[in-house]
Amino acid sequence: MEEMRDPRLGTVRLFLKHDDNKTRKLKYNLGHPRVLSFGGAYSGHLRALARAGMEHGFETIGVVRGEEHLPLNPSLAYARACGMRLTYLDRAAYRLKHTPQVLDGLREEFGDVAILPEGGSNAAAVRGCAELPGEIDLDYDVICCPVGTGGTLAGIAAGLPEGRRALGFAVLKGAGFLNDEVARLQREACGTVTGNWAVNLDYHFGGYARTSPALDPSFEQVYVAKMIYGILDLAGQGAFARHTRVVAVVTGQPSTPVAPWGAPTGFDSGDPR
Ligand SMILES: *Cc1c(COP(=O)(O)O)cnc(C)c1O
Repeated sequence: MEEMRDPRLGTVRLFLKHDDNKTRKLKYNLGHPRVLSFGGAYSGHLRALARAGMEHGFETIGVVRGEEHLPLNPSLAYARACGMRLTYLDRAAYRLKHTPQVLDGLREEFGDVAILPEGGSNAAAVRGCAELPGEIDLDYDVICCPVGTGGTLAGIAAGLPEGRRALGFAVLKGAGFLNDEVARLQREACGTVTGNWAVNLDYHFGGYARTSPALDPSFEQVYVAKMIYGILDLAGQGAFARHTRVVAVVTGQPSTPVAPWGAPTGFDSGDPR
């Protein structure tokens, strides 16, 4: 694991742990011959699902928010190239995507299919992410991750050894609901809510997919750069005890082409998935 140096850290030490959390979230969601899920036009979750389908030999269907635009953007082109069937829901229908009305329609159209929620965050995803801390062979006090839907944070916190804490950085604006959501996911996955995590809401930089020149361009901008900025800023303010050892989970899919897909800043982005 590489160590990151920055004057704002002072005595705090920061280590970077690269992790493809979207693929990790899928691990215990696989097994059905046909899997359908939802996402925006730049959804990393749909890319990860499409790739998993190709690698493990199951059918995938991606339900994309909004109208079809041709040619496909690189994110959807990648999903398509992996064999994913793409279908589209207009904004109004997409908002109702998790209601029985829309789900029944999709089952009618696509038959016997396992349906994963947008972003892939469910109890099985939490169990997958709970394995992440066990793969870190380094002594640390705090583990940080970016937060979109909360599944990654819920899992990491659930899998933490005694005495360590998890700190998530919300990339959405007004994301106070994430506290309830992370708790709900933990309750569903492990029957209990661990008291070892928190969500910081202060580093969204205007909201999902909004960026700022203040963000370090060497990191993925939608999620990772905001977390890194938050960690360095908090360290600079003395928010961590002296000599705290922090692991930052640098989320993303190294195995798929460049992120974040040349998406324009503030790209069509009702939500993080
Ligand atoms: C989806 C994603 C996240 C957020 O994960 P959640 O489980 O939705 O909170 C973080 N980083 C990257 C790069 C992602 O694609």
